[in-house]
Amino acid sequence: MNGNEHILEVKDLNVSYHTYAGEVKAVRGVSFYLNKGEALAIVGESGCGKSVTAKAIMGLIKGPQGELKAGSEIWYNGKNILKYNKSQWKEYKGGECSIIFQDALASLNPTMRVGKQIMENLMAHKQMNKQEAAREAVEMLRRVGIPEPEKRVQQYPHEFSGGMRQRVMIAIAFACNPNLLICDEPTTALDVTIQGQILDIIKDLQEKRRVSVIMITHDLGVVANIAQRIAVMYSGRIVESGSAKDIFYTPKHPYTWALIQSVPRLDLENKQTLMSIPGTPPDLLDPPVGCPFCTRCSYCMPICREAMPENTDFGEGHQAACWLHHAMAPEINMPDLRGVRSQF
Ligand code: SF4
Repeated sequence: MNGNEHILEVKDLNVSYHTYAGEVKAVRGVSFYLNKGEALAIVGESGCGKSVTAKAIMGLIKGPQGELKAGSEIWYNGKNILKYNKSQWKEYKGGECSIIFQDALASLNPTMRVGKQIMENLMAHKQMNKQEAAREAVEMLRRVGIPEPEKRVQQYPHEFSGGMRQRVMIAIAFACNPNLLICDEPTTALDVTIQGQILDIIKDLQEKRRVSVIMITHDLGVVANIAQRIAVMYSGRIVESGSAKDIFYTPKHPYTWALIQSVPRLDLENKQTLMSIPGTPPDLLDPPVGCPFCTRCSYCMPICREAMPENTDFGEGHQAACWLHHAMAPEINMPDLRGVRSQF
């Protein structure tokens, strides 16, 4: 671990959920790092394990259902957080690391004025007194673009629109100046115009405060302007990772190709159908021994069903786990993604 560069390093993360049907292997051998001040996007369909990964980083995998498997490591600033004691966890959650969830209404306390919710964090982690915290709460609402913040701090979450509530969540998340921010589908429930505004606020605060961000989303279009690096997850595994440029301009994995082709396009003719990925992801109660994408991949070869592909390194941190890059694999033509790229 390079403590000077990496604020976070996740090594061989394995998370399972124990259900009546059996053990769901939600995250399987996930490793990645996050540089200080960098924004990393984790992209993939629902159920691919991206939110479970975020929960593990926030220390939210709890028994008896959730289990972090032995051998999993999560290093934050040179310390394995899985070995934290109670007081270290308290300082880390809310003080060092914040999270913004998709559903602000479910995450905010409906019975407490929003100002008080921001103040609680400030008083707990920044040792502010009540007056200082009250002033800072108004200031935070102003910074995230909420009009009349002096009046709005006195209101309850239900008095805010969806977009405004998400701004409140951002204000709470940034109130304690976290070093690490996790955004779990922060704009999914919002309409497109508001989505753009919320992403701009996050990007602006991230750049000004040099916060390291993990942006979790199913929508590649959302991350184009925010992320410097992207990890593509499928079926509990990272199947490709690299710089945003690598992923958008020289993607190497058929799943990444399909995700890029599924991004809504402005240049399509009326009624021209948008590409979707046929089939469904594998059942994580009984994951396949080979490539998890093999039942949906149009390039699937016999070896794909028999053995898990290893990562091929394309240099500068760009990796993909696909048998197409094996020396013995046949040459294929990758799909033409030029028209899609023009959307980003
Ligand atoms: Fe497709 Fe095979 Fe590559 Fe998996 S390993 S993505 S099935 S070509």
